[in-house]
Amino acid sequence: TSKNGVLQNTKIKRYTVLLEPTGKYYLSLQVEISEPEKYSLTDKQVGIDVGVADLAILSNGLKYPSFNSSYFEKKAKIWQKKYSRRRHLVKLLVLQNKNKRVLCPRSLESFANWQKAQKSKAKYQAKAANQRRDYLHKLTTHLVKQYDVIATEDLKTKNLQKNHHLAKSIANASWRMFRQMLEYKCEWYGKKLIAVDPKNTSRICSKCGYNSGAKPLEIREWTCSKCQTKHDRDINAAVNILHKGSTKLSGQGLAMVTS
Ligand SMILES: [Zn+2]
Repeated sequence: TSKNGVLQNTKIKRYTVLLEPTGKYYLSLQVEISEPEKYSLTDKQVGIDVGVADLAILSNGLKYPSFNSSYFEKKAKIWQKKYSRRRHLVKLLVLQNKNKRVLCPRSLESFANWQKAQKSKAKYQAKAANQRRDYLHKLTTHLVKQYDVIATEDLKTKNLQKNHHLAKSIANASWRMFRQMLEYKCEWYGKKLIAVDPKNTSRICSKCGYNSGAKPLEIREWTCSKCQTKHDRDINAAVNILHKGSTKLSGQGLAMVTS
């Protein structure tokens, strides 16, 4: 039984023991729990824009950086290279054995070196992923505690193109996880998550509503040509997301408290 009430009256329905390629064992539990205790209401709402350098940019100006796991990622990359090279070599040797009709041809499994590389690669990948997930858990729990209404962009329509650039593909995966966690935590703890259409959120001035068109990604700050307000690109987008969320809420007959 935990202090926060989530694990009170928990019944274990099923458990599974997993052996991961890292050589670690995991115990996974399927449990039946009573409804978690709701977080107390704060009368605060927020719009959140997601980015690459900063994972979450809030309409109130707060920015939460993307998780940086560069050490483990670098290690994973190095071992990935070793793994690919060693595996390739081993495959050639096995093929050679076969072609030369060696009496006792060696199998892929009889070479320990590439398997060692595979394990190391998996270990560092898992470390980086675990750290990132942990960070996202802490951040989303914090946000759900702080705000009653959270407006985010609908990721389905946001540009989630396949990208080979590492930072971008990690960002895509993080956004999805971030969004999923916000979704179920809002539901568990009695808060509200609203997904809004991301269209024009980075083009419109959040002060006067003037649409000054698309701006290249490297433009981080701009001044509205109509009302002369100076904007931080991401914060302006987050404010627009909050406005859209607010409109959507009142459309559902639920008034949003103005801050
Ligand atoms: Zn303006």
